[in-house]
Amino acid sequence: MIDQEVTTRCEAKVRTGKWGIYSHRCNNGAKVERDGTQYCKTHDPESIEQRRTAKQDATMSSIRSRRARRDVRRAEYVVRAATSMSLKDADALVGEIIAFGSAISTGR
Ligand SMILES: [Zn+2]
Repeated sequence: MIDQEVTTRCEAKVRTGKWGIYSHRCNNGAKVERDGTQYCKTHDPESIEQRRTAKQDATMSSIRSRRARRDVRRAEYVVRAATSMSLKDADALVGEIIAFGSAISTGR
């Protein structure tokens, strides 16, 4: 008796070879059907999209945390610089930082 679960294969094409010039049909068993095409878990377009989105989110949160750490370092630098200068120089520095900050925010 032939088991339908085993005979239904994923219909995705898998690229192989050094530059992906060869392709063969995926050997995995089909798990889902999308628009009449059978796919395994790996090649299911929805799961591909989910992995892509998850990767994008991870990249964005990594960029955000790097920016946050950079901002902390800059703030610490300003505090160190400000604590070692006169009050008049510190006021001038703060003025420059505010002007620089508004130049950046209007530049976006
Ligand atoms: Zn597949």
